[in-house]
Amino acid sequence: MKTLLTRKHRFHYAHRNTKMIGDKCEALHGHTAHVDVVLVNDTKGKAVGIPFEQADSIITPVMKRLCHSLIVWEEDEVYKLLKHLDYMKFTILPVESSAENITAYLYNTLTNLGLPVHKIIFRETPSSEIHYPVNL
Ligand SMILES: [Zn+2]
Repeated sequence: MKTLLTRKHRFHYAHRNTKMIGDKCEALHGHTAHVDVVLVNDTKGKAVGIPFEQADSIITPVMKRLCHSLIVWEEDEVYKLLKHLDYMKFTILPVESSAENITAYLYNTLTNLGLPVHKIIFRETPSSEIHYPVNL
């Protein structure tokens, strides 16, 4: 039997959207992300598919690496200015650090670690969320 299993995590981060010129999101700012990691949970005839602790043993380290980091595009001038500071914690992306790209980063990272990720639901604020992937 297949079900969907959701593990809820959160982390704090800073970022900016360099392409949103003149918008408040161009400035460096922070969020507390609430992330739903939705997994395909195949019980394969047993009572339990993926134990929650097993899923979290993979998800939690990823969230901890992101927590209190500056999630930044590798070409961002802010990164180039700050990267020499030892006390800074960076998560460097090859793309802009938009909520959409952070969501895709989480999906790809957790999938590459072997989790059967169905979807990532990423809430940058309580009223805005990104779902990835989608088949539209
Ligand atoms: Zn933001």
